[in-house]
Amino acid sequence: MIKARKTRKIRIGSIDMGGDAPIVVQTMTATKTGDVEATARSVNELVDSGAAIVRVAVDNIGDVEALAKIRQRTHGNISVDLQENIRLAERVAPYVDKIRYNPGKLNSVDPETPWQKKVDYLVEIAQRYDCALRVGVNCGSLDATLLNDPDVRKKIEERVADKCIGAETPVSVLSAIEHTDYLESVNFQRFCVSIKDSNPFTTLLVNRLFSSLRPEVPLHLGVTEAGIPPRGVLKTRVALEPLLAEGIGDAIRVSLTVPAKDKSKEIEAGKTILANVANGVVANPDLLNANALDVVSCPSCSRVQNERFVELAQQIVKATEFAKDYPFKIAVMGCRVNGPGETDDADIGLWCGGNRVNLKSGARDLGSFGYDEIIEKTLELLNQKIQIYSAAQKVSPLSDGDYVV
Ligand code: SF4
Repeated sequence: MIKARKTRKIRIGSIDMGGDAPIVVQTMTATKTGDVEATARSVNELVDSGAAIVRVAVDNIGDVEALAKIRQRTHGNISVDLQENIRLAERVAPYVDKIRYNPGKLNSVDPETPWQKKVDYLVEIAQRYDCALRVGVNCGSLDATLLNDPDVRKKIEERVADKCIGAETPVSVLSAIEHTDYLESVNFQRFCVSIKDSNPFTTLLVNRLFSSLRPEVPLHLGVTEAGIPPRGVLKTRVALEPLLAEGIGDAIRVSLTVPAKDKSKEIEAGKTILANVANGVVANPDLLNANALDVVSCPSCSRVQNERFVELAQQIVKATEFAKDYPFKIAVMGCRVNGPGETDDADIGLWCGGNRVNLKSGARDLGSFGYDEIIEKTLELLNQKIQIYSAAQKVSPLSDGDYVV
């Protein structure tokens, strides 16, 4: 039984999100946005599968021109993801219903301009073109100012102190609070928030906390980089089903690493999650061993630089099965936009370029390798980490962060 939600209702194209509106399922295209036929076909297939909103990535003027044509050929509600290209907002807004911005990417371009001015610009564009906004906080690309400046953090912490007594509020939640408060201070309320982490338990906690602090703000829920199904679906269930049962969450996205033509699997998984919760079924968190090897991978989008990415992620999952009992995180990402940053917190990171794959140990770059040699290099590195970890465990058990390769 899903508890009633307390969020305000906002309109996104032809649908309402929040309040007593039905919880909607969202997804994203993974075709090249510049390929108008393929992307329009994908949007329509996803809408026909039950997607209430379909997100499309836009990186340049060519993508904007393609989006104008895609809009004419599709019948769904379209959201756009601009990452650091927020200056394109004015050009894409006529063709979309929602614009997602990432607080952690606002300073990637023109860092001298305060982020508030950039948000003012997005608000003005959203109002002019009848769009909603999504504040999309991603734990892999948090706002560097909040991360590094204790004074800025403290000011926001003081605003939520009554609800967070004794606990240090996660930076992701502070970032969402900061943007929520700012948008409301400029009288803009037609926005939702998402706070995503690749760890389902963290996703659950930060959304529960944000919802208790700002219960009126519509929430889009998802586990970022959930990865290959079926584990990617299970991770998402573990995070989302308890939240939805508590009446938290107005839209959901299941981010699965699947080929572009199979993106409707995200919708199927989303609908199953909603049906489970409606029937009183909530995933058992014990099904996910928090100390097991975890391979996270992005769901891919128009920015994927080599279509072998999905196959590579599948191969990494298979090739590392032997290490399933070791508490390492391996991140496999599809492009240079989020790849370098969102692999930093993994023990082993791979991010795909056009012809080569970049390998990292923690935040340290180890060079780039061909698609045919990267599996072997990854396994070499994993075996080194296992040796060091095992030796350290024999001497005295260590916490996960106490060793490096
Ligand atoms: S890492 Fe790159 S390819 Fe993967 S979903 Fe994010 S932006 Fe798209």
